[in-house]
Amino acid sequence: MHRISFILYKRFSDIAVHRVVIPKVAIIGSGPAGFYAAQQLIKLNNEVVIDIYERLPVPFGLVRYGVAPDHPEVKNVINTFTKTAKHSRVNFIGNVKLGKDVSLSTLKEAYHAVILAYGADKDKEFGIPGENKPNVISARRFVGWYNGLPEDNTLLPNLNCEHVVVLGQGNVAVDVARILLTPVDILKKTDITQYALEALAQSRVKSVHLIGRRGPLQVAFTIKEFREMLRLPQVCTSFKTDQMAGVKEIIPKLVRPRKRLTELMVDAALKQNKGNADKMFYPLFLRSPVSILGSGDVTGVRLSVNTLEGSDFEKQTAVTTEKYEDLHCGMVLRSIGYQSTKADPDIPFDLKACKALPAPGIYSAGWLCTGPVGVILTTMSNAFEAGILVAKHIADKSIDVSQPKPGLDYVKQQLLQKGIQTVSFSDWERIDGVEIKRGKEVGKPREKITNVNEMLQIASQHR
Ligand SMILES: Cc1cc2nc3c(=O)[nH]c(=O)nc-3n(C[C@H](O)[C@H](O)[C@H](O)COP(=O)(O)OP(=O)(O)OC[C@H]3O[C@@H](n4cnc5c(N)ncnc54)[C@H](O)[C@@H]3O)c2cc1C
Repeated sequence: MHRISFILYKRFSDIAVHRVVIPKVAIIGSGPAGFYAAQQLIKLNNEVVIDIYERLPVPFGLVRYGVAPDHPEVKNVINTFTKTAKHSRVNFIGNVKLGKDVSLSTLKEAYHAVILAYGADKDKEFGIPGENKPNVISARRFVGWYNGLPEDNTLLPNLNCEHVVVLGQGNVAVDVARILLTPVDILKKTDITQYALEALAQSRVKSVHLIGRRGPLQVAFTIKEFREMLRLPQVCTSFKTDQMAGVKEIIPKLVRPRKRLTELMVDAALKQNKGNADKMFYPLFLRSPVSILGSGDVTGVRLSVNTLEGSDFEKQTAVTTEKYEDLHCGMVLRSIGYQSTKADPDIPFDLKACKALPAPGIYSAGWLCTGPVGVILTTMSNAFEAGILVAKHIADKSIDVSQPKPGLDYVKQQLLQKGIQTVSFSDWERIDGVEIKRGKEVGKPREKITNVNEMLQIASQHR
């Protein structure tokens, strides 16, 4: 071989042997966990390419479909997620569901690592008689309804009743109670869906009971949510006097933030005065639902009266007594938490704890990893950890990046064969633009599109 061509050949073969392999990572789910994991990973690795897959044509998970419409400030995290989505090494692929449109085994072939961040979209149940009656609705679906989640846009809750019972005392329970009690004039300036607004304008609901199995010292809602209830115009918050007896004396023993919340509850209990309020909010403690009453429609809830066992306030457990009482109502919202499911048969999954488990090349983040607890900030910490771990494993070669992986091209080819229309981030921005324009016309920040076909149709315009 000629000397120069030999040198060139040698150089090229060296390059071929020592070719740079770009690490490719798929993230499943575009809620806070998916975006925060991606944000951390691109920061720590200068080469990694990240593809975020989302079952819906639109991103942001529970920030769009969970966070209450009257909490717009919470949704500001969307600005950070948008920056991440627009990063040159990040792609958003909407309308692709893991376990239906794409399998974990395909993703493993296409990527060096997969981060599962698809949240918890099933609700826990009590398993009590009557739980399947019409108008016994999970708070998850009710929230999905007023927030425009496509699968819940036909829910039709019957608000033609005066009394509603919410089973649960977490922040989601307070959210749904607040939406039911807030004057429509306030809600109509939010991004709540138009159909929910119309239904709430016709609502006859006058009272909401919020039922907890433990006492006032164990409530799961936080001070911000409780304070908002106290500030609702024309709504009176009322406690059973005997349930608040002795609570004030315990306050000095409590630590923050429980201390401040309890002070506020005690204060509210002292001040409770119906005045000219036309709606009532009743936090009711030491009660557990036993059955939903009514031969056809819901007429009430039978509750067992509980006592507390244990000396440590935080850890006291509720024990049922032989006493029962019936609470009259026409609607029941069950709000006892969310649950993750195994979206694909190959996912390593703890069926008892309902959490994804780690495996080589498979990571999890957010509610799928921690269980459905905590707020966006807690999800952020967990997702950052997942991003850091994947970056570390790429660096120390625990993730095998010696061979190139085909990534998005490979998955897209399969999706194309199945006739699945994918949605890019700029497609989403088109949908976003239409929603904001429609909102402007009626004085709202946005009018959400709640139909997947319409979203896909807008996404595909001007391509
Ligand atoms: C009703 C409600 C109100 C809340 N309000 C607040 C609040 O005001 N402030 C606050 O800080 N926190 C709030 N939170 C908590 C916060 O929403 C969560 O901490 C956070 O959203 C969890 O993030 P995640 O990414 O794990 O899950 P998610 O936000 O649920 O995101 C998961 C994403 O994965 C997608 N997905 C699901 N299955 C698949 C699949 N098979 N394939 C592809 N994609 C899939 C989902 O569509 C979703 O977009 C609220 C939660 C709820 C339920």
